[in-house]
Amino acid sequence: MRESSLPDLGVGLIGTGFMGRAHALAFHSARTVFDLPVNLRLVALADADAARAEQCARSWGFDRSHAAWQALIDDPAVDLVAITTPNHLHYPMAMAALEAGKAVYCEKPLAVNLAQAREMHSTAKKVGVVTRVGYNYQHNPILGLARQMIQAGELGRIVSFQGEFSEDFMGDPHASWSWRCEHTHAGGALADLGSHLLAMARYLVGDVDSVCADSQTVHPERPALHGSPERRQIAIDDQTYALLRFSNGARGTFSSSWLKHGYKNHLSFEVSGTGGTLSFDQERLNELRYYRADAPGRDGFQRILAGPAQPGYAAFCPAPGHQLGYNELKTLEVHALIQAICGGGNEGPDFAEALEVERLAAAIRVAAREMRWVNVADI
Ligand code: NAD
Repeated sequence: MRESSLPDLGVGLIGTGFMGRAHALAFHSARTVFDLPVNLRLVALADADAARAEQCARSWGFDRSHAAWQALIDDPAVDLVAITTPNHLHYPMAMAALEAGKAVYCEKPLAVNLAQAREMHSTAKKVGVVTRVGYNYQHNPILGLARQMIQAGELGRIVSFQGEFSEDFMGDPHASWSWRCEHTHAGGALADLGSHLLAMARYLVGDVDSVCADSQTVHPERPALHGSPERRQIAIDDQTYALLRFSNGARGTFSSSWLKHGYKNHLSFEVSGTGGTLSFDQERLNELRYYRADAPGRDGFQRILAGPAQPGYAAFCPAPGHQLGYNELKTLEVHALIQAICGGGNEGPDFAEALEVERLAAAIRVAAREMRWVNVADI
């Protein structure tokens, strides 16, 4: 390998599951796609499964592996700790990394409760390191355009946000229990999927003042393991619905479900204003539908295609309509993180923003439990 004159930035990645692989891919792609201001070194990979950690470190190009995550955090060559473990481990891992003065890139949801989220935010603020949280969908270049159009007033005054995040991976009542089914692990559709949608609502429309909501556990027990006769009781939400009142006066709807058959990654929204509507579905992540109210005789939605005019797209491809994918959004997230660490920008949601997302989710839980409107500021 050729020597680089750039300073090193050492990455330590914890977890080798779905998201561990996505982060590893994104770090590799970021080096290929962007002229980074650092020499990004993949220093260490940790997983509770030592053999898997070792094997993935070898095939994913990390210098070494650890079975104990604390050893990764203690590693002096690690400057940035990426956390892709089940939700209940985010707090201890992020706190240890912050206390060691390392930058933290943590998957969503930030924590299992608001008290943890508050502490993570206040510690990050005190230590003064860069933090980012994996609300990757908002790094989509075409959603950067959507936000820009909303902020420039192209839709007029915003009056509504209708958001839905549905998948169907728990739709089968025989789908087995997992850590995602436990309150203590921040399980449930609201935390798992809804956290992305709440982050998106805030990204596009802004603060939410108050909420009312309804949640339901549709399948109160599931097989302990795939195909096992042993059953486990389940009390988390399979689906949650909410009404939102935004600070700017807009009204909104929110829903998250992991048992809506037919939907695989249906993070979708319609934002409507006095002058038009924007509509998006993550299952068609390279297009935005736009309706203008000021084009009489031209009724109908225009389909805007993703292309190099939208910041971020051209790094991957010079041609419009050739399409980005989920892993490219993750690469853009990593790029924003590295820029922030190097003082070259402040894009992307940090622990302060994630705390607000957690506060909003907590307000929705209280509203559903107590069947009333809840002021988010009271949470
Ligand atoms: P997963 O179960 O596929 O992977 C979890 C990994 O953590 C496994 O490799 C497991 O061995 C490892 N692990 C568990 N305990 C550990 C410990 N004590 N020390 C070290 N490693 C340990 O889970 P996943 O689907 O990758 O989800 C992980 C996180 O990513 C969750 O917080 C989830 O909400 C989030 N997630 C985010 C997105 C997104 O689009 N941003 C998508 C899926 C998951």
